[in-house]
Amino acid sequence: MILDGIGLANKIKNEVREEVKTLKSKGITPALRCLVSSNDKSTRVYLNSIKRNCDKLGIDYAEVETNSKNIMEDLKSLNEDDKVHGVMLMHPVPTGVDEISLLDMLNPQKDVEGRTPKNLGKILLDIPLLVPCTAQAVVELLEYYNIPLKGADVTIVGRSTTVGKPLSLLLMSRNATITVCHSKTRNLIEKTRHADVVVVAIGKAKMIDENWIKEGSVVVDVGINVVNGKIVGDVDFDSVSKKASVSKVPGGVGTVTNAILMRNVVRSAKGM
Ligand code: NDP
Repeated sequence: MILDGIGLANKIKNEVREEVKTLKSKGITPALRCLVSSNDKSTRVYLNSIKRNCDKLGIDYAEVETNSKNIMEDLKSLNEDDKVHGVMLMHPVPTGVDEISLLDMLNPQKDVEGRTPKNLGKILLDIPLLVPCTAQAVVELLEYYNIPLKGADVTIVGRSTTVGKPLSLLLMSRNATITVCHSKTRNLIEKTRHADVVVVAIGKAKMIDENWIKEGSVVVDVGINVVNGKIVGDVDFDSVSKKASVSKVPGGVGTVTNAILMRNVVRSAKGM
């Protein structure tokens, strides 16, 4: 089976479009602001894709350009602006600025990426509100394809705050048994080879091939790598798909992530 994210993403976006219409009929236009302090190419590409999605769904989108001197003031203004429902603090922040302190300043109700300490803490307490979009996308993709999670052995490769760590908690609360691996894990292949579900988020093009995977398991590829101008995942799709169900890259987790970000903006606009 191929885990395609497009059907699920379209379902989420259709719901978002309807909710935007309802909000607008009540005089509320959901609004997203991106606080941008870097001009690097990958940030630009990401911002353009967010803008395209907002335009298609009727969400008001704008970028606020900032720098090390103004970033705290700009964030404060966005926090206080009642017409702004979602705020994204784009990475990287200016040199010399502490990103975690800034995230701590961001109003958790507007934290549509689920990155603030408060929203991350809520996952730990099993009362998630706004959750990191990629971690949520992996869970919803697995649920969309009815992959059993209760009692399943799940190995997550990658322990970032945006993907691996929150995902481990979300899946644990669905009664899966979780192993989280990283660059210092010994015998990594042993941890993936016995798992019912493997989620890979490491940023290493096609590192995981069929030798790493159990026959009949499910593999979710979060990776986005550019190789010779082409986007590929962390999983060698052609190899792994011979013995396991595997998600597509592109058109898998990333597509769902973008839709969930839009849904989070609408949720913030609705007051959750
Ligand atoms: P980070 O760089 O923050 O984290 C990478 C993680 O992978 C770290 O925990 C690191 O271990 C681990 N790792 C790196 N190399 C190895 C290895 N050889 N063996 C085992 N573990 C390893 O990355 P992100 O989590 O932000 O992103 C991971 C990938 O997912 C990237 O390709 C990124 O582009 C993609 N991504 C995709 C998204 C989507 O929506 N589809 C959204 C976000 C990211 P350690 O902690 O020890 O350093």
